[in-house]
Amino acid sequence: MLFLPLIREGNLLLNVGEEITLGTMAFATAAATITYAVLTPGSQIFGQTIIAGNDPSEAALTFDDGPNDAATPALLDILAAHNARATFFVIGRFVRQRPELVRCIHAAGHLVGNHTETHPWLAWQSARTIREELRACNQAIEDALGEPVRYFRPPHGARRPAVLRIAHELGLATVQWNAMAIDWQPIGADRMMAYVDRGLARARSHGTGANILLHDGFDRQMGADRSDTLRVTSRLLERFAADGTNAVTVDAWG
Ligand SMILES: [Zn+2]
Repeated sequence: MLFLPLIREGNLLLNVGEEITLGTMAFATAAATITYAVLTPGSQIFGQTIIAGNDPSEAALTFDDGPNDAATPALLDILAAHNARATFFVIGRFVRQRPELVRCIHAAGHLVGNHTETHPWLAWQSARTIREELRACNQAIEDALGEPVRYFRPPHGARRPAVLRIAHELGLATVQWNAMAIDWQPIGADRMMAYVDRGLARARSHGTGANILLHDGFDRQMGADRSDTLRVTSRLLERFAADGTNAVTVDAWG
């Protein structure tokens, strides 16, 4: 029941709550609207998020759920070999375990963003928990790097107005994506590339850059095998070199 925790907050949701009393059709429409607003990366219903700029020759490789000592160092080597910069949305509790790895990411010129302390579904959490999840991860990154964090990606892309508001209050711009590899599933590099290609084609047809969601870590534990993600990254960077795509970090877009 996706809508129940949401009906307390904001004008949009109050309106949706009123619609729900109108009958089954309105109820279904309202629930679908809320589901879209909460979970669809491209939705701006609950507030403005960064997805991509208007230059189709730009692509951001974004890596979530690290740092991960089983994948992040090899990923840094691949990025360095292609002279490419990327964005890493890291989990605070892993940053505390491997602060030196986060310093390596940063020292290599990549952008480090907040992906919460423990990776909960923020859309269903209290405002107090949301604030604590964002604050604790900010603190972990700032302790490791000695500079403030500016970008945040909600776990699973799930948000509600309070998530964006609290992120903003903490100085964080919220970032979504418009292409993904589904690389959290063991589907192999070929199928992952096919998913990314679908997103890239969609971004091109909209005349925008690509913001590609990948994972160098795993939210449950340190040490996950991400070799398929590394293969996908290598292939994408080879293609970018061939077709003139600029690998950018998300701060290029706001
Ligand atoms: Zn994540």
